[in-house]
Amino acid sequence: MIKLTTTLLVCTFCTTLLIAQPTSNPIRIIMIGAHPDDCDQDGGGTAALFASMGHAVKFVSVTNGDAGHQSEGGGMLAMRRRAEAQEAGRRIGVVYDVLDNHDGELLPSLEVRLQIIRKIREWKADVVIAPRPNDYHPDHRYTGVLVQDAAYMVGVPNVAPDTPPLKKNPVFMYFQDFFQRPNPFRPDVAIDITSVFDKKIDGLDAHQSQVYEWLPWIGRYADKVPVDKTERKKWLAKDRAVTITPEVRKTLEVFYGKEQAAKVQHAEAFEVCEYGSRPTQEDLIALFPMTKKK
Ligand SMILES: [Zn+2]
Repeated sequence: MIKLTTTLLVCTFCTTLLIAQPTSNPIRIIMIGAHPDDCDQDGGGTAALFASMGHAVKFVSVTNGDAGHQSEGGGMLAMRRRAEAQEAGRRIGVVYDVLDNHDGELLPSLEVRLQIIRKIREWKADVVIAPRPNDYHPDHRYTGVLVQDAAYMVGVPNVAPDTPPLKKNPVFMYFQDFFQRPNPFRPDVAIDITSVFDKKIDGLDAHQSQVYEWLPWIGRYADKVPVDKTERKKWLAKDRAVTITPEVRKTLEVFYGKEQAAKVQHAEAFEVCEYGSRPTQEDLIALFPMTKKK
């Protein structure tokens, strides 16, 4: 677990969170990925749980996905992927925004940083989750950099002055990945998504151009994808299940207790970013209320 620090700013922030009620004062989460389907894979189960509890979740794809196919591309593919994202959002219960930046060509520019600052402000986010800036894919890596670069600026009034700054800095977090350099992912929060795993798969199933076409093609396993719709969804559930690492299991024990943690079949984990608000363990439990020990 991280070494947690407390500041006056954090205290003011967490007091507000601890009294938050889903119906009158929902927790507001924004997950930011590089492509339409990234947030679904890395945070779709957690998002479905938040949504079912009455909290507000938005997914943002920083690119429009217009390079993610072997035989389609450009504006037509971007339109197809936007429609898939809208359907996925409907199935999971989240709002899904797709920004109109080209896929495969993302750079950590000022222009895109301002787009992201505005999205976080408009959503009045309590929690922002994005990739770490260590990744094989440049779009993922630069999305991580762009969100980190927004972590302080969301509160600076003279930056993007057309959108009111946030009065409190959100907690910024990272999605789980398996890269080891320069440092491995550290699970500060782990969520049991077993009860909503089917919903997560249902959301991913909406990204047909990706999960059944492009990713199997580029991964050289297109021959493994069943043609029948029911069969291929079953195949997708196996294809997208993430192995729970010993580190994630340990974090599940912290949040759920040993007995319940041992029963978890599917989990999603997140690491606290050093920028933005620094939450205490109590803050994290308040921000992820589905983890409260029963
Ligand atoms: Zn991606």
